[in-house]
Amino acid sequence: MPDRLVVSAGQMQTLREHLLQEDAQERCAYGFCTRSGDRWVVADIVAVPDEAMRTQRRTACRPAPAFERDQLGTCVRHGYRPLLMHSHPFSDTAGFSGQDITAINRYTNWLHGLYPETDFGFSVVGRREVETTVFEAAAEQFHPVPVDVVGNWRLDPPVATATDTAAIDADLHDRSLRLLTEPGQQRLAATTVAVVGTGGLGFSLTKQLARLGVQHLVLIDPDTVERSNLNRLTGATVWDVGRQKVTVLAQQLHDTGLDLTVETVPDPVEDATDALTDCDVVVGTVDQVSTRSVLNQYCVRHLRYYIDAGTVIRTADEEQVTAIEGIVQLVAPGASACYACLDRADPERARREQLSTAQLDAEVAEGYIEESALAPDPAVVTLNGTIASQAAAVFARLAAGYASPPDMVRYEELDTQLQELVTHRDSSCPTCGEEGLLGQGDRDPAADRDLGDPADSDLDLAISGGDTATDGGTPVAGTRRPGQRLVQWLTRISQQVRP
Ligand SMILES: [Zn+2]
Ligand SMILES: [Zn+2]
Repeated sequence: MPDRLVVSAGQMQTLREHLLQEDAQERCAYGFCTRSGDRWVVADIVAVPDEAMRTQRRTACRPAPAFERDQLGTCVRHGYRPLLMHSHPFSDTAGFSGQDITAINRYTNWLHGLYPETDFGFSVVGRREVETTVFEAAAEQFHPVPVDVVGNWRLDPPVATATDTAAIDADLHDRSLRLLTEPGQQRLAATTVAVVGTGGLGFSLTKQLARLGVQHLVLIDPDTVERSNLNRLTGATVWDVGRQKVTVLAQQLHDTGLDLTVETVPDPVEDATDALTDCDVVVGTVDQVSTRSVLNQYCVRHLRYYIDAGTVIRTADEEQVTAIEGIVQLVAPGASACYACLDRADPERARREQLSTAQLDAEVAEGYIEESALAPDPAVVTLNGTIASQAAAVFARLAAGYASPPDMVRYEELDTQLQELVTHRDSSCPTCGEEGLLGQGDRDPAADRDLGDPADSDLDLAISGGDTATDGGTPVAGTRRPGQRLVQWLTRISQQVRP
């Protein structure tokens, strides 16, 4: 069963605008959810328009059966799990009422009978909280799950979330927890981070993450140490030449004696995205445009944070340096711009990366590519150190929460400038825009099923059940379909959403 429900701040904003209107009427929405490791992630939100509501009052709401049938059918047919949401706009907190529990039991009888293999859930949205319970079809059981909001700091007010914490060595972290605070240090300790690319930048950054108190690291890089890396891979020695970079780095981390586990993956991340499944934050310190796009897409799809860190040194000729700069971008999918939104990738570079050695040689021979374009990029330990520190600070603010993290930081060495930039999503972005991958999780688009639609009357009978207490419409007789079980699935919901 999922251990949390993940929704983006952008989706939550949409939800609040619809569900928490000034007239304080209860309203409904559907979440189309997918699975991502141990999480449920929200791919889409469908707000039920007022004209599609059958009941809408300050104390009760219900969509018209035809609309409901349509939405649930679409959701299940396309391989999503439905999340039925309604609001308590009169309340800061969120807790299912007795009426809600009665209605949830009726829905469950109906929905589970109709789609016996589909998991589904229910949420109630208050002004500051969200309470969710998820029905596991195979076990026929409800589980309460806390909600996590990606980019929560952008909401006013933020949603009260139950974040994970881990035990810390307060003695060892005495100085840093005076900045991070003890709860912040505990949250940071519970954050699993993947570092993709363990070159000079990745080496320096990973060591800072470990010293900050991250206890679970996944290091991904297929490369081995070369002699020309030794002036940037801090701590590496001539004896490490020829060894896997991730192994050398992991060894150095173990030697610190800090309390941490390190998983090493000596493969291209394109072949190893499974290693990212349990990660909360993915840090990319890679040269390739294509690899950064893969990481960005993964994080948008699974609603994980992506921190993209990179350096560029530009030279006009052998004598003149025109730029020494570094950029750190924090992608909070669905809240801030993703890597693709900003179109930062040099298209010619991206094209070159896709060519084989033979194709490259041919293009050089034909003069399409200058030979100098294929030479290694300039790199220097000082710039790596600066950008590693900037990226680690963005991470620390994100994970510990002592200050809101910036969307983007740009460093320019020649002008000695450090700028914070605000980013905005592009709604037509192919990765995180309306037609993009946001929240698609592990869903296989090919898995669309033809299940047929339930008849109106079934839904009507199932959810009305003859009870007029939550229904302003015509009372409906409490008859049910022959053979339909009427089970009280949900009798008690824990109050674990409280912060
Ligand atoms: Zn309610
Ligand atoms: Zn985007």
